[in-house]
Order: sequence, then structure tokens, then C-alpha cells
Amino acid sequence: MAVTSVVVVGCGVIGLTTALSLQRTGRYSVTVVARETPSATSDVSQEWASPYAGANWRPFASLGDTVQREAEETTYFRLRDIAATQPAAGVKVVPMRDFGVSPGEGVPPFFSYVHNARYIPRAEWPEHAYFGYTYESLIVNVPRYLMWLRQHFCALGGVIRQAELAHICDSPAVAGVPAVAVVNCAGLGCQALGVNDAAMFPTRGQTLLVQAPMVDFTATAPAARSDRATYVIPRGDGTVVIGGVFEQGSTVASEDPETTDEILRNCIALCPQLLDRGFEQLRRPSEVTKDDIGRLRARIICAKVGFRPSRHGGPRLEVEHLGGLTVVHNYGHSSFGYQSSWGYASAAVRLLDGALAAAAKL
Ligand SMILES: Cc1cc2nc3c(=O)[nH]c(=O)nc-3n(C[C@H](O)[C@H](O)[C@H](O)COP(=O)(O)OP(=O)(O)OC[C@H]3O[C@@H](n4cnc5c(N)ncnc54)[C@H](O)[C@@H]3O)c2cc1C
Repeated sequence: MAVTSVVVVGCGVIGLTTALSLQRTGRYSVTVVARETPSATSDVSQEWASPYAGANWRPFASLGDTVQREAEETTYFRLRDIAATQPAAGVKVVPMRDFGVSPGEGVPPFFSYVHNARYIPRAEWPEHAYFGYTYESLIVNVPRYLMWLRQHFCALGGVIRQAELAHICDSPAVAGVPAVAVVNCAGLGCQALGVNDAAMFPTRGQTLLVQAPMVDFTATAPAARSDRATYVIPRGDGTVVIGGVFEQGSTVASEDPETTDEILRNCIALCPQLLDRGFEQLRRPSEVTKDDIGRLRARIICAKVGFRPSRHGGPRLEVEHLGGLTVVHNYGHSSFGYQSSWGYASAAVRLLDGALAAAAKL
């Protein structure tokens, strides 16, 4: 079978998942070019989103949003498979306690395929919640998973070149390969690559990594402000990511101490297990004491601020012809890059297959 050379621009969760999905077809030889790539160091640039995620799997596609629904479902089963067969990947199945503000209509679409889904009785809902479900979700230990994706890709013959591009069309030359096709997975960075997509914007996130080995489930709940949500995501190694904020358009790169206090208070109320307590002691944020906050503060390992690659209208999954290259765009996954990564990667492969087949007929 003839093998086509392709460049993937970007080495975050979307770039690596797309690169692996192209590689798995056996039809493509793949080179990744990226300014930032996963490494063992904990000192990570804020110029890319992937190392800053929680990350858990929490579906939110509405019934009519077929693309997002399929991406979430595909990724659910792929991550379950990775959790079962690849212990080094840092992916685990855990129960989710999912509370929200808008229940939508009828049974949520994902109830038909997630494992062990049921409603949580109203008496257990936290403040500001208007529904509650529990189901088997997935948690991703982000640093481990990114390294695993990278190692897996390279072990299968993939090549990664670390370089900053000035334009998407420079990527084959920088990669040193005769590629006629490029997949653009540059997240927020696509703005500086000649793509000029005015729909892109950052959504600031602030999280804390804390030591809390008792937490063996993930949870999420609404907060008083619409640009806040409370979430707790264990990493499976005794540490837990707690958050957080969704500040659209903000580029403030430093930790906000008031937000840190807010996160500590809200997360203790949602998950008393952070302080080694049980649900019987679940309280409203207003009932969390200064002493409680002080105890969880003493368990903080670090605070982090990252920027989600958001896009008005949702991710861009589209073919464009630029400077003689077939470019498949796969960027703009905002707050759901991990939980929908394998689905969007499959869709990008289908788009590339179709575009190259159409070009071959001309
Ligand atoms: C606080 C926080 C919590 C989150 N929690 C979750 C969660 O629980 N679940 C979930 O599914 N998602 C979550 N996300 C979202 C998720 O992190 C993103 O959707 C995802 O990381 C986007 O990945 P990406 O590969 O598209 O972009 P990025 O990770 O930003 O990668 C972009 C890549 O492009 C490269 N690049 C950019 N510009 C250039 C250039 N000029 N030249 C060369 N290379 C370039 C970069 O170096 C990088 O390799 C969270 C995000 C944040 C910030």
C-alpha cells in the first residue's frame, strides 16, 4: 500500500491523538511539528492548553449536536479501552457525580451508552444545582497521558520536530518531509500561523493541585457565577485537580488569590473527602469554616493558570487548500479536548482521506 506523508502541526492532546489515528490507518507516515511538546519537566509554558487540564470525561452535547455527541461517545469507549489495557497511560474509570444548572429535556443522550448511569436524589444536590446524575466517567492523569501518547506515537515510527512555525504552509519544509497534506491542531496558536480565525478566543482556567488520596470519584457542580464551576478530578496517584473558572477572553496569566480561596471553599463543600470526610458532612460553601480552608490550603502542591482554545460556533473541522497544500483544520476544542479527542481525530482522518481521494481524481 502506498504511504502518504502528512504533517500534524501541534503536539497537545488533539495533535497527538490525530497523529496516532492517522498512523493507525497504515496509510500515512506522520511527522508532528510543534513549538511545545510533552516532556518530563514540570515547568510548562502557558502557551498551550493541554498540560493545564483536569481532565475528566463529562459529556454536554445536546441531542441535536451530532458531531460533539459522536466525538464524546467514541472517546468514552476509546478511553475505557486504554484504561483497561494500558496502565502506563494514566487513564482510570471512576464514578462521576455530575450536577448542573440546565437539565435539558428528557433523558440525557449519553445515558444510552455510559455505564451505571442513574439520577442522584434531590436531597443530595449541592447549592445552585438543578439536576444530578452519577455514571462511570474517566479521569486522565494529564502529564502521564501526554507522555504516553508521545511515546506510543514515536514507538510506532512517528517523528516529532520541535520548532515554532511562522506559517502553516512552512510545516513540510520545517519537518523535512515531502508532505502535500497538513493537519492543523495548533489550538490558540493557529492565529499566528496565517489561519486568522476571528472566532478563536482564550477561556482562562485556574486550578489547584492538592494532595488528597481519599478522593476516588470525580465531581462537578455549578457555582453562583456563570463563569465559575466547581470540579474535583483525582489523578489516580493521590493528587487531585480542583477548580475552577471559565473566564472568556481573559489573558491574565497569574494566579488570583481570591479565586484560590473560592475554589478551596466550593470544592470542600462538593467533596468533603478532600479533607478525609464523608458525604454525611456535605455542606454548603457558606458553612465551610476558615479552619477547613486552612487545612486544604496546607495540602496545595501548586496553583495553575491555563487557557482553553475556545471558538465561537465550536471546533473547526474543515478542509482548506492553502499554498498548494491540503490543510485539515482540527482545533478549537475549548474545555472538552480530552473527552472528545479520539472522536475529533477520527473525523479529521475521514476528512483527509476524502480530500486526498478527491484530489487524486482531478
Ligand atoms: C484549566 C483547564 C481544565 C480543563 N479540563 C478539561 C477536562 O476536564 N476535560 C477535557 O476534555 N478538557 C479539559 N480542558 C481542555 C483541554 O485542555 C483542551 O481542550 C485541549 O488541551 C486542547 O488541546 P489542543 O491540542 O487543541 O491544544 P494545545 O494543547 O494548546 O496544543 C497546541 C499545540 O500547537 C502548538 N503550536 C501552537 N502554535 C504554534 C506555532 N506557531 N508553531 C508550532 N507549534 C505551535 C503548541 O506548541 C502545542 O503543541 C481543560 C483546559 C484547562 C485550561
